[in-house]
Amino acid sequence: MSSSRSFEEIFSSLQNLIELRENEEGAPVTRMPKCFCGKSDYYMSQSRELDDEADDLSEQQQDDSEPIYVESTPNGFRYAVCPACNPRLQCRLCEGTGHRVLKEVHVFESGEGEFEHITENISPNTCACTHTERIVELLNNAEIPCKYMEADIHSFQIDHLNDFQKKKMSDNIQKMILFCTHSASLIKGTKDPSHKYFMTLTGPVGSGKTLLATAALKLLIMDHGLSGRFVDFQFLLNQLKAEYEQKRSGETLFKQLRDVDILIIDEFGKGRNENEWQLEKLDDLVNSRYNSKKITIITTNYLPQTFKYDEKEIPIRTHKIKNDYWNPLGKPDTSSANTPVNETFWTQSLLERVGARMYERIIEVSEFIDFMNIPSYRKILGKSFLDLYNKK
Ligand SMILES: [Zn+2]
Ligand SMILES: [Zn+2]
Repeated sequence: MSSSRSFEEIFSSLQNLIELRENEEGAPVTRMPKCFCGKSDYYMSQSRELDDEADDLSEQQQDDSEPIYVESTPNGFRYAVCPACNPRLQCRLCEGTGHRVLKEVHVFESGEGEFEHITENISPNTCACTHTERIVELLNNAEIPCKYMEADIHSFQIDHLNDFQKKKMSDNIQKMILFCTHSASLIKGTKDPSHKYFMTLTGPVGSGKTLLATAALKLLIMDHGLSGRFVDFQFLLNQLKAEYEQKRSGETLFKQLRDVDILIIDEFGKGRNENEWQLEKLDDLVNSRYNSKKITIITTNYLPQTFKYDEKEIPIRTHKIKNDYWNPLGKPDTSSANTPVNETFWTQSLLERVGARMYERIIEVSEFIDFMNIPSYRKILGKSFLDLYNKK
């Protein structure tokens, strides 16, 4: 017969042990590394105020400002934990190891009375102070393009827009924040499963669709610890082409895209010269996420049936395009093969582009945010996209 001590009891005894050791050895001398995330003042003042209690950490982590910054490496940009503000540095529970020691006390009864047997199990990298590192890993796994790595849903700059556009953009942002809240509860199983779980952002090039989508993805990763992945539609087609040419099934890539909590497919419908196999695979992907009610965010320049681009905005050099493999009845029309692919959305709808099967599924389970009448940042000279939209 055996019984175990509660987790809280073990935790507090461990805490006492660490405090005891620190009293013996004196406060550890820490050399403050350089702060990259701009929060060192915040963390230092927090730690002074909070009277050295070990549960400081949980309070720090509930604050939404994670000490994360974008680091430049020889292989490109990536997210990293700020070396100066890393919660490990001040962690009294694990002394920076990140490990959690789980003690189990078994009480045995024998003829001579009770005796205890204590076992210690080390659980690596599960101390509360490693939370930021897990978030950083999720962010890096999401493969957000570097242009959008700093996207932040709470700091969209909309000062360059007129009043109508400002109102529309603010509504779009609010709608997306609400979708994120619903999505997180849906994944955690605390929400009515009939809720929409796709989000489609439609509208002209450069109006901020991808920025809002990546900002939402970051919010879901950072605030809810969910896994996510950004994939560009054209990139996906190219990957599939490569898999096909090497006579591989594309299964490794697709398993990840099917399973991830949140998937962004950017520039949905863009591209040409797709073959049947590629389209079948894409259809499988959308179908799989549709069937398993997985949160999926789509951005597209192609509009649903209810919207139409303003004639005045459409460039003069466009053609009626018929090279439409998506449409089950469509056959390639080689006479329009020279039409610039980035202009097809002026003349084709999302339905025409992706075919009835995929379109109907998307319509059924998707909320829509439209960016019609929001000007393209490219029209505003001398401003980069993020300078324009991020307040920092
Ligand atoms: Zn920092
Ligand atoms: Zn720790």
